[in-house]
Amino acid sequence: MTSTAKATSNSKSRNRLLLAGMAVILAIGAILILPKWKAAIDNGGQLPREPFRIAGNLYYVGSRDVTSFLLTGPAGHVLIDGGYPGTAPMILQNIAALGFRITDVKILLNSHAHFDHAGGLAALQQASGAQLWISEGDAEMIASGGVSHRNMAPINWLISSGLMRYPAPRIDHQFQDGAQIKLGPIQLTAHVTAGHTPGCTTWAFPVREGNREMLAVSVGSLSLPMPTSLFNWNYNAALRRELARSFVRLRSLPADIYLSSHAQLFSLKRKFEERATSQDPVSPFLDRKGYLEDIAKAEAAFCKALQEQQ
Ligand SMILES: [Zn+2]
Repeated sequence: MTSTAKATSNSKSRNRLLLAGMAVILAIGAILILPKWKAAIDNGGQLPREPFRIAGNLYYVGSRDVTSFLLTGPAGHVLIDGGYPGTAPMILQNIAALGFRITDVKILLNSHAHFDHAGGLAALQQASGAQLWISEGDAEMIASGGVSHRNMAPINWLISSGLMRYPAPRIDHQFQDGAQIKLGPIQLTAHVTAGHTPGCTTWAFPVREGNREMLAVSVGSLSLPMPTSLFNWNYNAALRRELARSFVRLRSLPADIYLSSHAQLFSLKRKFEERATSQDPVSPFLDRKGYLEDIAKAEAAFCKALQEQQ
C-alpha cells in the first residue's frame, strides 16, 4: 500500500467513526428531547381564551389559536373541532363557563384530520357521548389517530405516525361533499374543500340574530398540504385538481361571517376587541372582504407553487 492510499483509508475510517459518533449523539438527543417535544406539541402552546357569543346561537369555545365553535339549539348542540389533545379540557371549561352542558352536545364535527383540530375529539366524545361525523376523505386518518399516507411521502407518514399522533375517536357517521347535517333547527352544509387533507371540510350554516339571517362559513384550511414544499407535485395531479376545485367552491359561498380553523387566520383577536366597543357586536365578524382576500392569497400561493415546479 502506498503512503497516499494509507492516508486515504485512514481518513475514511476516521470519517466513519465521526459519523457513527454523531449518530449516537443524535439518537440519545432524540430519546431525551422527543417525549418533551411531543408533549409540547400536544398542548400546542395553546393558551385559554375567554369564550363568547359571536352571533345568534354561535359561540366561540376554542383556545387562543386553534378554534372550536359551539352551535346551540333546543334539540341539542353541535361542536365543531376538538383542538390538540391538550385543548379539550379548555373547550370543556369554556362550554361550562357559558352555562351550557357538555352532555347536551349531540353532534361533533371536524375541519380536518390534523392533530391540532382532531386531537381533542376522543376526549370530547367521551365527555359528551356525541356522535362524530367525519368526511369520507379524512375518515382513514381520523380512525388511525392522525397517521397520514397522503402522497405516499415517507416523511409525511413518519411525522404523522410519531409526533402528530392523537387518541383516535370513534367515527359514527361518514359523509360526502354537500351533506346536510341537522339537529332540530340547526342545519349545516359540508363543503369538502380537499387539498390540505383529502377530506378537509368547510362548514357553512345560517345564524339568526334578531331579524337578520347571516351565513357563517368556517374554512377547513387554505394552506397547501405540507409535503408539497418538499416533494415534486408532478406525480400528484389529483391533488392539484382538488385544490383548484376547492378555491372555486369557497369563492362561490355567500359567506357573511368568516371563521376558520385557526383564530389568527380570520383575525379573531382584533375582531374580539372591536366587538367590545362596537354598537353592533356582530359587525366585526361580518367580514366577506377578508374571506375573499384570504382565498385569493391562498390561490396565489398555489399558483406560485405550480409555476416553481414547472
Ligand atoms: Zn392542518
